[in-house]
Amino acid sequence: MLNGQCGLVLGVANDQSIAYAVAKRLKTAGAEVLATCLNEKAMTYVEPVVTPLSIPVVTCDVEQPGALQSAIQSTLARFGRLDFVVHSIAFAPLEDLHAPLHASSREGFLRAMDISCHSFARVAHLAAPHMQSGGTLVTMTYLGSRLAIPDYGLMGPVKAALESSVRYLASELGAQQVRVHAVSPGPIATRAASGIKHFDQLMAQVKARVPLKRLVSQDEVAGLVAFLVSDQATGMTGQTLYVDAGEHCVR
Ligand code: NAD
Repeated sequence: MLNGQCGLVLGVANDQSIAYAVAKRLKTAGAEVLATCLNEKAMTYVEPVVTPLSIPVVTCDVEQPGALQSAIQSTLARFGRLDFVVHSIAFAPLEDLHAPLHASSREGFLRAMDISCHSFARVAHLAAPHMQSGGTLVTMTYLGSRLAIPDYGLMGPVKAALESSVRYLASELGAQQVRVHAVSPGPIATRAASGIKHFDQLMAQVKARVPLKRLVSQDEVAGLVAFLVSDQATGMTGQTLYVDAGEHCVR
């Protein structure tokens, strides 16, 4: 389905990461994929899980000047083209994530916004000029963007800004056939999710409430990303698409 496509998947921390499942699915579907992890320490966990899939990995900390540019250049150097970038990264300082929004620090809020939201705009700025025959940019969001989910705190407004950015980027880049989407998974036990207070409770409550009466898997998220990147989805842009067992449509 993705033969001939080449791209970058940002944000593998381990084999539970949504980015890991996405990289694996895109590769299995025929794409060439370069993955990133945060730093050399993360590399010791990530390299052993992506190498057997023939997925090369480089470090990319979006707070470091030039890091995103370097990851995109590495993709172009290896594969000679860039068709997609999947942005699957988020961060908030724990003390701010564990505080109510009104008590979050200015510095913590700005840092969360920079890493989790503005970095996606930077991805678009750096990637789009290389997408000569169009391409796809995908980021990961959460329902806490539009509903006040307990313990999601400052990440709610950050994800709201991310989803709005998707609409603006889709509008700005559409003329060159660069399509931009946010994928919104339901709760999944990952490293990032483990930083959210009472996450086990949230998963249990969601499971009981959602139409499908179960949680979703990383693979189900990856399946949607593969579809969005494929030629099956060339008529779509600017959307927030839910893979959440129906959570977004019930109270
Ligand atoms: P994860 O911990 O596996 O991935 C988060 C990634 O963000 C890690 O690889 C981490 O290194 C990276 N990251 C943090 N700071 C960074 C920085 N400065 N530069 C570059 N990378 C940085 O967790 P995940 O659940 O797979 O998260 C991936 C995305 O999915 C996030 O945007 C998250 O908000 C979103 N999401 C997760 C869930 C869930 O329940 N797990 C639900 C909805 C959305």
